[in-house]
Amino acid sequence: MDNSTERQGGVRLGCIADDFTGATDLANNLVRAGMRVVQTIGVPTAPLDAQADAVVVALKSRTIAPAEAVAQSLAALQWLQEQGAEQIYFKYCSTFDSTPEGNIGPVTDALMQALGTGFTIATPAFPDNKRTVFKGYLFAGDVLLNESGMQDHPLTPMKDPNLVRVLQAQTQQKVGLVDYQTIAQGADAIRARFATLQAEGVGIAIVDALASADLVTLGAALKGMPLVTAGSGVAIGLPQNFGIAPDSQAAALPAAEGLQAVVSGSCSVATNRQVAEFIATGRPALAIDPLRIAEGADVRGEALAWAKDKLAGGPVLVYSTAEPASVRAIQGRLGVEQAGAMVEETIAGIARGLVELGVRQLVVAGGETSGACVQALQIAQMRIGAQIDPGVPWCHALSPAAPQGLHITLKSGNFGTPDFFTKAFSTL
Ligand code: ADP
Repeated sequence: MDNSTERQGGVRLGCIADDFTGATDLANNLVRAGMRVVQTIGVPTAPLDAQADAVVVALKSRTIAPAEAVAQSLAALQWLQEQGAEQIYFKYCSTFDSTPEGNIGPVTDALMQALGTGFTIATPAFPDNKRTVFKGYLFAGDVLLNESGMQDHPLTPMKDPNLVRVLQAQTQQKVGLVDYQTIAQGADAIRARFATLQAEGVGIAIVDALASADLVTLGAALKGMPLVTAGSGVAIGLPQNFGIAPDSQAAALPAAEGLQAVVSGSCSVATNRQVAEFIATGRPALAIDPLRIAEGADVRGEALAWAKDKLAGGPVLVYSTAEPASVRAIQGRLGVEQAGAMVEETIAGIARGLVELGVRQLVVAGGETSGACVQALQIAQMRIGAQIDPGVPWCHALSPAAPQGLHITLKSGNFGTPDFFTKAFSTL
């Protein structure tokens, strides 16, 4: 890991993210706010070997059993505390992705208990990325969460936009609300509201936010709070509390080289559009059929043979991305989890193979898919660079398949403009 800036000092902010793309999204916001950030894949077994103001431990705990998510999150907490982290940040998706059992509530409860703290906040608001919260209701763009496409998500369908209700169903603690009227009155009013809610027995407060400025105001009110739980948006308001200001050096990465490829296992609305747009440019694109994987066909080998002589001509795309009706049909035949795991494993194997073929600039679409790809590439940690689109930075990482390192970007489903799959390469 390079130490791109001279600033000394230990880890200020210790972050625990419930999936890989979410971790990168958070790291991206911290870099833009001037922090030098390292993202680790899972809980490291050794102390941090790079200079960083913030470390984001990326777990893959969003849809696993709650007890397992809690255990992994507590292990991450302990490692972060050993690195000297002064404040802990539990990061989940900006669409509050969770199953009825969790894992946002159970993990929050466990972290609070371990930190000995009786109060925290919860808000996925990220107005730069069109996620706003008003009166506790989450909007994605102009529509409520449950009208945004998230109601059809393969693993975490979100059918209720009211976050107080959603979280209350997952936690032992009382959930309250800091509404927009309070936010508009500034940091002191927010702190006063925290105190009132706590006195009323509230353990976790959902927080409204409509604009980036609201998150900066909120950030000031979070100074010294042992645990913050949020999407990635709240991060923009925290570095100021540690005397850190925006600095372009925080995003410095090595120069890019090598072949270019995109793999996509995301079926989200934005990804479907990005796949269509890439195909419309006339570049090579190969669709993966989950049923053929289930039949035992060598889908990975076929994809790599297809890609081999095309890579020299520019970026290629391999995708399992499909419309909701098609995803439901596949899930009906294979089972939701089995279909997901099988496709993830295949796409990850293809990503590894592409890097072995010389790809050194890799775009991955899909949160779960990214987790699988990073594991297949045996990436342990990544230095976070400049963003391509809000929430999606280029990163630089070492892998046994690319000992000198590769550039990789992990795009969660609903992020990125329609031309993301081509734009990403032109920004490197
Ligand atoms: P997103 O970030 O869009 O939510 P994820 O990768 O997190 O994307 O989740 C998508 C899930 O859907 C993964 O488990 C993936 O393997 C699965 N999947 C991908 N393509 C298909 C398909 N054609 N049919 C069924 N499931 C699919």
